[in-house]
Amino acid sequence: MKLKKILERTDIPENLRTELEKFNSENEKKIAELKEANEKALAEVAILKNQNSEKDKFFSIIAHDLRGPLGNFSELCGLLMEDLQVMSIKDLQEAASAMHLSAKKLYQLLENLLIWSKARMGSTKPVVTSMDLDLVVNGVEYLYHEAAEIKGLLVNKQDCNITVECDGYMLETILRNLVGNAIKYCMKGDRIIVSAKQSQHEVEICVADTGIGMTPEIIAGLFRLDSNVQRPGTAGEPSTGLGLLLCKEFVDLHGGKIWAQSNKGFGSSFYFTIPIPISTPASVEKSTASSFQPASSN
Ligand code: ADP
Repeated sequence: MKLKKILERTDIPENLRTELEKFNSENEKKIAELKEANEKALAEVAILKNQNSEKDKFFSIIAHDLRGPLGNFSELCGLLMEDLQVMSIKDLQEAASAMHLSAKKLYQLLENLLIWSKARMGSTKPVVTSMDLDLVVNGVEYLYHEAAEIKGLLVNKQDCNITVECDGYMLETILRNLVGNAIKYCMKGDRIIVSAKQSQHEVEICVADTGIGMTPEIIAGLFRLDSNVQRPGTAGEPSTGLGLLLCKEFVDLHGGKIWAQSNKGFGSSFYFTIPIPISTPASVEKSTASSFQPASSN
């Protein structure tokens, strides 16, 4: 600053001015370089912070959420071992179905955990095919029909007869998580509707429920690693806060958007978009059925 003031003076000898100007411009270059290095360092710190939160999330899921169903499973196995001789068929059936439920929860959680970590490591790329949305929704409905029946819920489709150019496995994973959540946060007699609408540039898919809804604080914390929005479902189902992160990861990989609207006590609607490719690449395969491996329900 002082140097600039000196350079404004008219009484400086010409050779000194040239030297000072050279010094000034070198100085400015160095300052710009330092600024750039500082910005890079700050960006790296932000990435490391995020990776650290991911690692924390990972360990908290393993330490806390896997312990529950695994502990139940192990207890039930112990019970069977000790009391098998004296158990009635009804007791055995109850124990077997509780073990089945624990195993299904474990499987679902592990699957989400693996897919999520794979996506975070950048090793997941969408394999785009033409997916019949109606068939994908049918598959998800089938997966959850038992859970919906137990809770006395109605799951319906609306305007799903469209083709979506996307990764079928990812589309199913998103819908599986959103429909699973809707079931988790609904009460007896509530309704869930999966609907879609197509515009010129994108397909918008919505999973709406008439369940318990969310507070503005929960809505603000959705799809974020650093928030704590997990709540047990209406029947005490566990929540890890991983499902929506995974949905966002997959929607992002397609260049789409995901968001939620809700009023506490009046249900929730989750929306996501999948852009329509400008020209369908030659590599796109036509698929008439969903290409994914069905996974077990929550
Ligand atoms: P999880 O994988 O355990 O199901 P999510 O990431 O899918 O966790 O959801 C995080 C939280 O968002 C839930 O614990 C709940 O508080 C809220 N949430 C998600 N979907 C709904 C919904 N349909 N209705 C009400 N709350 C919801």
